Amino acid sequence: MQIIVVLVLIAIAIAIFWWALPFLLTALGIYLVYRLIRYVKKEKYFKSPEFLEQKEKIESTIKDFNEVAEYVKEIPNNNQFVPIENKNEYAHLATFENTSKHGYKRDRNTKNINAQNVYPTSLQVVRKASEEPIKYLCKYFDINPTEENLNQLQEIGENISRMENTVENLRLREQEIETDFDPPKFILKYYKKELMEKLGAEIPNINVKYAEYIFEYVSAGGNSSQKSTITFDGETVEATASFISEKIKYKKSAKAQRALMTSRLRNIIKYRDDHTCQICGASTKEQSLLLLEIDHIIPISKGGLSSPDNLQTLCWKCNRTKSDKILS
Ligand SMILES: [Zn+2]
Repeated sequence: MQIIVVLVLIAIAIAIFWWALPFLLTALGIYLVYRLIRYVKKEKYFKSPEFLEQKEKIESTIKDFNEVAEYVKEIPNNNQFVPIENKNEYAHLATFENTSKHGYKRDRNTKNINAQNVYPTSLQVVRKASEEPIKYLCKYFDINPTEENLNQLQEIGENISRMENTVENLRLREQEIETDFDPPKFILKYYKKELMEKLGAEIPNINVKYAEYIFEYVSAGGNSSQKSTITFDGETVEATASFISEKIKYKKSAKAQRALMTSRLRNIIKYRDDHTCQICGASTKEQSLLLLEIDHIIPISKGGLSSPDNLQTLCWKCNRTKSDKILS
């Protein structure tokens, strides 16, 4: 029955617009021919001696790219604070049960969010949390002022910084490959992915993951809801560490404040070390895209502080070798 209706509608449309049909078909034809020509040109280019010769020339650049691309997969990317008292593998299940017990209707937009980071609360707290995010984050998500928590925040900050640094480095390397290789414009425009594949560059599908902490108010009937979201990015982690550190200092009154890792301090150390790896001597002077990281000589987990005398600049390879040794 429906098919007949559709056929009748098509017949009516053709009856009214029959005069436009040749134009439409011509346009479609031209487009298909264009795509075909583009495809043939592309296939020809990837088989051309010019391409293969260029490809050989940048082989080592591609190799370096792939090494860093492998490395980025090793960097911890679960940048979530875990309260010490709940630090066991089932902790998230308990919180999850708790949330569903209240029978809150979940907002459509929050469907995918990790339930353990959602704090159901009053409208007033939701509003206050957006005014003083760090204070409320610490209070309601149990980031208490203890040395252990401060260390954990510092480690999360380290991982975020390493990850951002490495992802950015990969982006720059990708750009360098494009610039050095200088393929025909249409290849870059339409076949960039294929170009990288043909060159053997394995682009990892990785982004820096930031945890989100949410204060959510849902009305009794579940019809209205409001929320404040705090993204646990590098800046928030830094601010949280500094907030906790202040509180610890206050508790111990006389004790001097310990140095905290900040993106500013990272830059100071790189500058102090002349952007040179303190183990192998590799430097951004010779390799502009060398991936440099800041290493705690004595790791934070072993009581090392983020003070300049305990920090050094290392290239990612030396840093990885060093942490392998510490772990084994
Ligand atoms: Zn090195």
